[in-house]
Formats: sequence, C-alpha cells, structure tokens
Amino acid sequence: MSDRGVRMVMLGRQGAGKGTQCVRLSRHYDVPHISTGDMLRAAVKAGTELGRKAGELMAAGSLVPDDLMIGIVDERLAQPDAVGRGYILDGFPRTVAQAEALAEITASRPLDLVVDLDVPTEVVVERLAARRVCRDCGANYSVDAPPASDWTCDVCGGPVVQREDDTPEAIAKRLAEYEANTAPLVDWYRERGLLETVDGTGPADEVTERLLAVVDARRGG
Ligand code: AMP
Repeated sequence: MSDRGVRMVMLGRQGAGKGTQCVRLSRHYDVPHISTGDMLRAAVKAGTELGRKAGELMAAGSLVPDDLMIGIVDERLAQPDAVGRGYILDGFPRTVAQAEALAEITASRPLDLVVDLDVPTEVVVERLAARRVCRDCGANYSVDAPPASDWTCDVCGGPVVQREDDTPEAIAKRLAEYEANTAPLVDWYRERGLLETVDGTGPADEVTERLLAVVDARRGG
C-alpha cells in the first residue's frame, strides 16, 4: 500500500477494464473507488427516489441528467475519506458540463491526473458481450473467466449475471453515447495538461503495472 493517496479520474470506453483496474488502484493507494454507475445501481436496487429517476435511463443506455450526477458526486467528494486521501472517480465526468462542475468542486484540491484507459472499440464490444457481474457486490467476471462455482460470486456468494445494459442494443447505444459525449473529454483534459493515455489491452496485471507507473510519475512517487 502507498503512503500517499491520489486524486484521479479514469476515462475509457465501457468494457475498457475501468472497474477492474480502479479496484486495484484504490487498494494500492488506499483511496475510495467512486463509481457513479455502482452508486446508481445501488440506488435502483434500494428503490430510492434517485433509483427511480435513473433506472429506466440506465437500462436504455442513456445518460442520467448532469444536475443529478453533479449533486451526487459533489456530496460524495465532501466525505472525509475523499477529502483526506483522495479518490478514483470512475464513470464521472461523462460530459463537458460534468467536467466543468468537477473543476469547480475540486478547485481547492485539484486532480493529480486523468487517465484515458485506451482499448479499441472492436475489443470492448467483445468484452462487454462476455461480461458477467455479481448482482450484490459488483465483482466482474466473464464467460471465459467465470466464478469457481455455478455463477455464484467468489467474493460474496451473490448471483453472477449479465448486466441489464450489456445487451447488444444497449451496448451500441452506450458506445455511441461515449463517442458523442465523453470522448471529447480526452481533449478537454489534454488541453489542461492533466491527461495520460494508458494502453488498456493485454493481461490485466500488465495494464495495472502501466497504470501504477503513470500515476506514480504524476503524483511524485
Ligand atoms: P457505468 O457502470 O459507468 O457504465 O454506468 C452505467 C449507467 O449509469 C450509464 O450507462 C448511465 O446511464 C449511468 N451513469 C453513470 N455515470 C453517469 C454519469 N456520470 N452521467 C450520466 N449517467 C451516468
């Protein structure tokens, strides 16, 4: 574990491996992994007002409105763990309006870096179609790397299923959404000197090594 935290954003197409890599980095730097997708899925499951507003949009592969998302993230980043050591933001920002709001929220404690985890579209389409997740804890599996026993999560024992938005139609919609709304953030952050592009292809352990090297260089070891 590292003695210093980090404040970072992870960008990348759906299926680039953001979830898996963010969990690893979050352990290494001892900072919370803040996934807006996970927060929304928890709200849908709990049947809260937010969950009712977000559920249908998510199932269709559409984005949840900016003002809702900005409010959620603003509140989460004000928690003591994030203020104290930092965080890894996964799934936010997704639009330029969200990035502008994040810059304001973090004005007194700016981001160390933004990583674009780069995996070509053809590869992510294959990965998404094969992806399976634990409905209870969100752990990631695939049809090629299933849990040890009968689609029961190795971590928590929950049911391992296909995500509702990993159908071919919703995958196509989400990738188009990414190109239209989120890909422009790569240039937006490059212009601000915060961007690092990391090759997300190949074995997960190698991708982790690449990420650690880039993050350590940015935050000064
Ligand atoms: P993810 O798990 O990051 O792929 O997010 C799943 C779904 O949650 C997305 O397809 C959106 O419907 C919604 N969502 C998550 N984060 C955001 C965000 N920052 N802005 C808008 N919608 C979001």
